Amino acid sequence: MESLDPIVSLAKRRGFIFQSSEIYGGLSSCYDYGPLGVELKNNVKRAWWKAMVQDRDDVVGLDSSILMHPTTWEASGHLAGFTDPLVDCKKCKKRWRADHLLESKGIKPDFRPDQPIEAVCPDCGGELTDVRKFNLMFKTQMGVIEGEGSEIYLRPETCQGIYLNFLNIMQSSRKKLPFGVAQIGKAFRNEITPGNFTFRTREFEQMEQQYFINPKDAKKTFEEWKEVRMRWYLDYGIKKDNLRFREHAKDELAHYAKEAWDIEFNYPGLGFKELAGIHNRGDWDLSQHEKFSGQNLKYKDLETNEEYTPYIIETSDGADRATLAFLLNAYEEVETRSGDEDSKHEKEVVLRLDKRLAPIKVAFLPLSKKEPLQKLTSEIQAEVRKNCMTQYDETGSIGKRYRRQDEIGTPYCVTVDFESLEDKKVTVRDRDTMKQERVVIAELGDYLDEKLEKA
Ligand code: ATP
Repeated sequence: MESLDPIVSLAKRRGFIFQSSEIYGGLSSCYDYGPLGVELKNNVKRAWWKAMVQDRDDVVGLDSSILMHPTTWEASGHLAGFTDPLVDCKKCKKRWRADHLLESKGIKPDFRPDQPIEAVCPDCGGELTDVRKFNLMFKTQMGVIEGEGSEIYLRPETCQGIYLNFLNIMQSSRKKLPFGVAQIGKAFRNEITPGNFTFRTREFEQMEQQYFINPKDAKKTFEEWKEVRMRWYLDYGIKKDNLRFREHAKDELAHYAKEAWDIEFNYPGLGFKELAGIHNRGDWDLSQHEKFSGQNLKYKDLETNEEYTPYIIETSDGADRATLAFLLNAYEEVETRSGDEDSKHEKEVVLRLDKRLAPIKVAFLPLSKKEPLQKLTSEIQAEVRKNCMTQYDETGSIGKRYRRQDEIGTPYCVTVDFESLEDKKVTVRDRDTMKQERVVIAELGDYLDEKLEKA
């Protein structure tokens, strides 16, 4: 694939992802997940939760609120430092990230605010304004009285909710260091140049885990989490060649970070771009919240009597960027393979999603619309849908129906034919091998459970 276009079009056509507020002309950089998209994204989030919380003894979960005490952002450094350098074109008024403009010309961004930069507008060649710092946090207000004191922010990252609950969680779950807290939730950034579909949006979802440790274990723990996160993407089917690590240079590190690595995915048309991050945040966050809240956030090791402010190793994944990566990675155009004449197309799309991520696990296809077949198919489906997402489709030729399911990544299609009424068997067709197997209806549930490796 040369660009994101085939996936953007498939996403809309098949109901994975729509432009937000489309009937009003759309709201730029905001997207809605349709019937299949919400299943896929939920499966991605569930898979992450399973690996990060369910399968581990040392990580617990949290769901903290989006709106937080405004002092949080003063303490975290976001009010002062969560800014991007911005320039406007004086001629066409288009807005640009100054650092991106310089980087694209091979110049290391080293400008000072309120200074001109060595670039012109890439669109119209117009002169650019001086660089201004632009804070990416969305401001809103709480309560009915406008003005100072009521201003709050939509969180630009989910992790602050974890830091503010460090004591609550440690005390209520009787956790000793090292332990982690995981959370999935929305974050908001007023990005200057959003775009490339769901890769960069102003509202997005993060899957973050904060691991609290003794500072002396930082290096070892950091390496472990790097491997854990990379393995997760590989385990869920991202091709090795599509992934790589990238270390942040010292002058690129966020204000809180001691060390940072990205896991990058090769997004078609964009090249390798950040999919997830692993950060050593040192004791920055807890020290700052201790300072601003006046609460003691140090940890006392009762065995060694050591007292220290824990270091934090953060793993930060974007649910939207991950969902997009899984879609792109799974997309394959193949020569026609669906058989019968009227359904022949030169190219067919197969979405080779990991079965655990596929939005629909099993499709039920009665060979004809005759009542006895419809009835039997619905009865079988009623049993299977107790355990997983299913779909019923009786329109069009069987080849066309297989193709529809291949295109949305459904691993198994169950065809019910007239013989099924007699021999009480159905045909199960595998998306990847296209092998067809006759399976006794009474054993279908167990057969599919085993194939789908249910969690
Ligand atoms: P970038 O350099 O691409 O702006 P970042 O370094 O600011 O990303 P982090 O602050 O490390 O990103 O956020 C953690 C994760 O959240 C990212 O790896 C990405 O998956 C996701 N993310 C961040 N910003 C966005 C966005 N605007 N739209 C969608 N996902 C995002």
